Amino acid sequence: MKSIIGHTQQRKELANLVRSDRLPSALVFSGLHGIGKHLIAREVARQLLCEQREDAPQGGCGTCRTCTLFESGTHPDLISLSFSGERGASVDDIRQALEKMSLKPFMGGKKVAILNDADDISIVGANIILKSLEEPRPDTYFILVLANPSRLPATILSRCQRFFFDRLSPDEIKEISNLRGIQEISEALTLLADGSAASLDSLQAQSEMWEDVRAVVERAWMGDQAIVARAAQEWGADKNQVKERLTFLRTTIRQRLMATSADPSATAVWATALQNALDAEYLILDRHVNPTLTIFKTLQSCNKALASTYQTTPRQHPTLGELLIDGR
Ligand SMILES: [Zn+2]
Repeated sequence: MKSIIGHTQQRKELANLVRSDRLPSALVFSGLHGIGKHLIAREVARQLLCEQREDAPQGGCGTCRTCTLFESGTHPDLISLSFSGERGASVDDIRQALEKMSLKPFMGGKKVAILNDADDISIVGANIILKSLEEPRPDTYFILVLANPSRLPATILSRCQRFFFDRLSPDEIKEISNLRGIQEISEALTLLADGSAASLDSLQAQSEMWEDVRAVVERAWMGDQAIVARAAQEWGADKNQVKERLTFLRTTIRQRLMATSADPSATAVWATALQNALDAEYLILDRHVNPTLTIFKTLQSCNKALASTYQTTPRQHPTLGELLIDGR
């Protein structure tokens, strides 16, 4: 079993509920993407199915017949469905899964269904599942794992006991990266991961892009208009990665804002820039406004020389068009 970092309190509570046979039959595990909710659902499921459930440690004994089957992925009383993306479970998949759940446990114990990314479930799918939740059979458990409970129909939510899992602490993020063989993780990357190991993975993969964004923001701060114009043009044209770049841009600016609390003029620059970065995300991703112009405006507002003038006379800046066309 993959080791789980963090969430000690909830895991202990869940293990105790399993041991004393008081675990509710419908559970919602909610929290940020990539913090280990699915692993914890599996930990609970393995203990539920373990032959020594009452005495077993968290996650089951690990050695009995059912624990072994569980680990090999062939336990007949564990059903897993995932609803995310195009290959998410269909209505037919749900019907089949529920049919399996309605059978007697093969191994004579309990039956567990883990529904991953359950907030992506269709209305039709949700209604089918609702029936099973309304009339729970003895010894069957449904664990709905999701990021956003408000996307789940209230009828389902009201039938589930909810467990909330918080984001991971910077120390826990470091522990996870160590487990993955990354010895040194930068402070910035830990902060950027924002409590999610999944973000950490994509950040590691994109560290070059991240460095690039940081370098451009630094040049923007120094007033290097040519670099700013070029970056805006390049980033705006790269439609596939504009979302990531905007996230990096916002986070970089936020970090600069946090680091300059002692300097009021710098604080004003970064606060304005942060507002522009947030606006840019909304305008580009939701309103489909021209990304190049919007990114340009955001980067331009990072200019420290304009700290005193920006608030009062923002029109002093050359426009992107002027910079690119006149070659100024
Ligand atoms: Zn066991």
